[in-house]
Amino acid sequence: MSDTPRTTEDEELGELDMEAMRPSTERDMEVEVFDAVRGQSAFPVDPVRLTPDDTFEFECHKGVTCWNKCCHGADITLTPNCILRLSKRLEITPAEFLLTYTVPAMHEKADLPIAKIKMGGDDGRGACPFNAAEGCTVYEDRPATCRFYPLGMVSVKMKDMDGVDDFFFLVKEDHCQGHCQTKSQNVGEFREEQGVEEYERVNRGWIDILMKAASWKVMGGPGGKAPSPQTLKMFFLATTDVQAFRRFVLESRFLQTYEVDDRAVEMLKTDDHAVLLLGYDWMKNVLFNEPTISMKEQVLQGAIAKARESMGAA
Ligand code: SF4
Ligand code: SF4
Repeated sequence: MSDTPRTTEDEELGELDMEAMRPSTERDMEVEVFDAVRGQSAFPVDPVRLTPDDTFEFECHKGVTCWNKCCHGADITLTPNCILRLSKRLEITPAEFLLTYTVPAMHEKADLPIAKIKMGGDDGRGACPFNAAEGCTVYEDRPATCRFYPLGMVSVKMKDMDGVDDFFFLVKEDHCQGHCQTKSQNVGEFREEQGVEEYERVNRGWIDILMKAASWKVMGGPGGKAPSPQTLKMFFLATTDVQAFRRFVLESRFLQTYEVDDRAVEMLKTDDHAVLLLGYDWMKNVLFNEPTISMKEQVLQGAIAKARESMGAA
């Protein structure tokens, strides 16, 4: 799924053009949880809603008896920025990284394809491939989930609200001795220490898509139609493999189909974050008909004519 762009780009774009024609559906509210939990799904969450100024006691260090326990059998979803950072650190391509260290999965709430770290052992209960006796071997580039832990984050977006409202909660797993330590910090300090800001900034568009897909799934949009297999494939490509998506944008008919100005095209050649942001914009347009990217006028007219024809219109 994560390999190089397909050779049937015409077909793909043709299909995507049609999907972009779907009518948008107004929604009253979008609410979704983006959790950051390294354990299995039945995790114990402290129901107290925390703000950046709220304090909690927690410290993880080699002296705890549970050292490395949470790096075994963990359920770690990789965000687009996680894959980018880890593949760079390991000096391999995102495609090689995905093949070697991940398993494909569907995001449970959004029904969109994602990648998770492939845990060791036949049953997936073994160690994370980046775990060693001394701790995490990719610590500086560890995934967002590992940075957030033991905090989880909830994102809430109300209709007519410009941004997204985030709040936090504590995850308290029995085996985690970190909660018995006396180091006190507030949520904001902890997040700064863990370096989550870049991850939140670069991943925000991806989280927005997951949130919206999840709420539309619950509320029956768009038009009750699930994304096509081709759309799912392109979502996975755009959100997991920067190099392959860059090739797709620069070497397919993408730039002949969509309005992307010359300066942006130059940026896309070298700026990985710009490639990810374009991917999010494209997917928001394809999945939700958001005006995040514009089709070129003649392409749009052609797509409208084709849609009218397929509906039997004169
Ligand atoms: S990436 Fe590092 S911190 Fe995260 S589970 Fe693996 S070894 Fe542990
Ligand atoms: S204290 Fe918690 S986070 Fe640290 S190693 Fe133990 S289980 Fe993992």
